[in-house]
Amino acid sequence: MPRKIKIFVWLTLQNRLLTKIYRAKWRPAESTDCAMCQAEPESVKHLLLRCPATVRLWGELSRATGASLNYSSLTEFRDAMSNPAPLSAHALPNRFTRLLLPPGLWTIWRGRNGALFRGQRVYFENIWDTTLHLLQDWGRHLAGLSRVYYLEGEL
Ligand SMILES: [Zn+2]
Repeated sequence: MPRKIKIFVWLTLQNRLLTKIYRAKWRPAESTDCAMCQAEPESVKHLLLRCPATVRLWGELSRATGASLNYSSLTEFRDAMSNPAPLSAHALPNRFTRLLLPPGLWTIWRGRNGALFRGQRVYFENIWDTTLHLLQDWGRHLAGLSRVYYLEGEL
């Protein structure tokens, strides 16, 4: 995973995303409405779990992969992101989930920043395509690594 995404995920897990609610501490005059949907205050929970674009992304990813990306609280979400499940067959979907979340999160955050700082409209199709590309790149990277380990094992 690219370093900037790792850092971003770490900030998310520390609850240190600079959402509009967070920014309002220093800029009380600024609106706290979500930059993507404008329907609710932009909290970390809203952005990562409740915003319509996010809900749709986790829903489509769940359908496409069979993973269950359905979290009712930030604690559940953070647990899924940060606790590696033990390596056993029944825990595989859990480990798989950890690979799916960062690219989705990163793409949502990028879409939100485009809306907030550049006035761009958020199209779900763009979020979906970018997430899939990131997953593909990451998958290729992992496949490359396992090939290297495999070859080293052969030598
Ligand atoms: Zn929203």
